[in-house]
Amino acid sequence: MTAPPTDSFARKIDYLRLSVTDRCNLRCTYCMPEDGVPKFDHSEILSYEEIITLARTAIGMGISKIRITGGEPLVRKDILTLCANISRIPGIRSLSLTTNGVLLSGFADGLHKAGIQRINVSLDTLKPEKFAAITRHDCFARVWEGIMAAQKAGLSPIKLNAVVLRGTNDDEIEDLARLTLRFPFHVRFIEFMPFRQGESHDNKLVPASEILERLRRMGPLTASDETQSNGPALHYRFENAPGKIGIISPVSNHFCPSCNRLRVTAEGRLRTCLFSSEETDLRQALREGLPEENIARIIRLAISAKPEKHELSNPVFRKCISRQMSSIGG
Ligand code: SAM
Ligand code: SF4
Repeated sequence: MTAPPTDSFARKIDYLRLSVTDRCNLRCTYCMPEDGVPKFDHSEILSYEEIITLARTAIGMGISKIRITGGEPLVRKDILTLCANISRIPGIRSLSLTTNGVLLSGFADGLHKAGIQRINVSLDTLKPEKFAAITRHDCFARVWEGIMAAQKAGLSPIKLNAVVLRGTNDDEIEDLARLTLRFPFHVRFIEFMPFRQGESHDNKLVPASEILERLRRMGPLTASDETQSNGPALHYRFENAPGKIGIISPVSNHFCPSCNRLRVTAEGRLRTCLFSSEETDLRQALREGLPEENIARIIRLAISAKPEKHELSNPVFRKCISRQMSSIGG
């Protein structure tokens, strides 16, 4: 198997997050304005053939873990066919998907059969009215049904991602964490990231340290081995709990030194850092029909310029953040 490429800071780059659509059936307040964002024309979005060529090129370079995301990936037509085709590419070690869960109950079995091994579901609250306020859609019950269907279908692990917002859902940190006592889920608390232009995040951000302190007050919490390994989350477990807790703190304690990821937006732009505005257009290369080795060369060049760390705490940079998570591919 090909060794993964490394960047200028000796980080191994083996993980690609592929956004398959910029569209979404929710409008989470921290991610999108109520009327949504301007949509790309269908012709601007990578076709499935283009996405598969890209995935094959990346896997051929040693990038062996792929996550399908969006927007909301389950709203793209024939998503199961795409997943099945990517899962069959020789050399892939892990294929996963991130979803808001609204359509999950109808897709869980199909996703498992199409080769999706693990799934992340966004779930910021356990209260239906609050769910409706955060996502601007009243569908908590459908999402919960989707999570149960994913468990039944054998998708594992199921990671539940909660963006913690002060004054909105920070009163539910304990309730969300308690899910790990009943289910084998990984409940992950994510610091709110300031993507929306002009938005002050300081009053919404609940730092990881505060989340951890609240969790520790609930009972003995042990750090799990993964906390020491690569990856953005710190992992913990309550005594005898079937599930785990993760804390993702891109803002207060950035994980740049262990960052192993690349992102490709739905219209085929490669981003080596979530918080950098630098993008490389891969769509043009794909549409010109360049051989895969040439596309790999373009990707390697971008990897060599991957920034050492993000500048999220720099106010000048924050004013210039040009895209939101839904269009980058979270
Ligand atoms: N629609 C899918 C979903 O919601 O899971 C996949 C795409 S969404 C952009 C991926 C992840 O980004 C979600 O877990 C969401 O909570 C997170 N996200 C979006 N905006 C964010 C923000 N401003 N701060 C932190 N996380 C954010
Ligand atoms: Fe849609 Fe996911 Fe963004 Fe919510 S976080 S608006 S579900 S893309």
